[in-house]
Amino acid sequence: MTENPAGTESLLARKRRARKINKVLGEFYPYAHPELDFRNPFELLVATVLSAQTTDVRVNQITPALFARYPGPAEMARADLPELEDIIQPTGFFRAKAKNLVSLATRLVQHYGGEVPASVDELVTLAGVGRKTANVVLGNAFGIPGITVDTHFGRLARRFEWTSSEDPEVVEREVGELVERKDWTMLSHRVVFHGRRVCHSRKPACGACVVAQWCPSFGMGETDPAKAAKLLKYELAPGQEALREAYLAQTENAAAIRMASQRALLAGETP
Ligand code: SF4
Repeated sequence: MTENPAGTESLLARKRRARKINKVLGEFYPYAHPELDFRNPFELLVATVLSAQTTDVRVNQITPALFARYPGPAEMARADLPELEDIIQPTGFFRAKAKNLVSLATRLVQHYGGEVPASVDELVTLAGVGRKTANVVLGNAFGIPGITVDTHFGRLARRFEWTSSEDPEVVEREVGELVERKDWTMLSHRVVFHGRRVCHSRKPACGACVVAQWCPSFGMGETDPAKAAKLLKYELAPGQEALREAYLAQTENAAAIRMASQRALLAGETP
């Protein structure tokens, strides 16, 4: 669908295309935001560690109880392991995660005065924290631009031919060269939003995709608009128009609307 066949596109053309995709996704998802619930850097750090190998929805289910019991690093550093494991069990790999959380909290208390440090180099010294987690925390809790390469971001970056690498650090670097630094954090949210809702790993909904025109991989999924629309998820799913309207009308409150609709879904109600 792109004007330039794969492999012949100049760096300048790729930059222009990446910035166009970022702009169009920004207009389509003005409400894009981190989908993990948090109130401060510590909560985001812990929630991101817990999100490994599970969904944000599952993490959001258990963090209210977790932070009621352990409001900060000092309390978590002193946690009784079996009790902590019990609370975080639904997120999977709970034994390893519980150990990491206690170790991470202990290091925050002993080396950083109980505060979350605001640099990648310091964050990656914490147990269970890699570059992806560090960038999530920097971008969303400290406002320091970062590209978060999770499974969705990596898949879409390759489909967009922004990179051919499977290595998250290379993806981060190569995409960082295409898009202005100030846009890195929001680009990450927009691309992940698009991956979760439209450009799925197995069945991308190409026929209902707002960036199809600039995507070299158009056609790898369903191209019929009506059939593709049925593949959309969350607020774009058929029947969820009211939720999308609420997001658009109250872009700045989208996280709160999402939390309420998530709780309603979990309680078996219609959001
Ligand atoms: S849904 Fe299709 S057209 Fe859209 S980004 Fe994914 S692969 Fe490209």
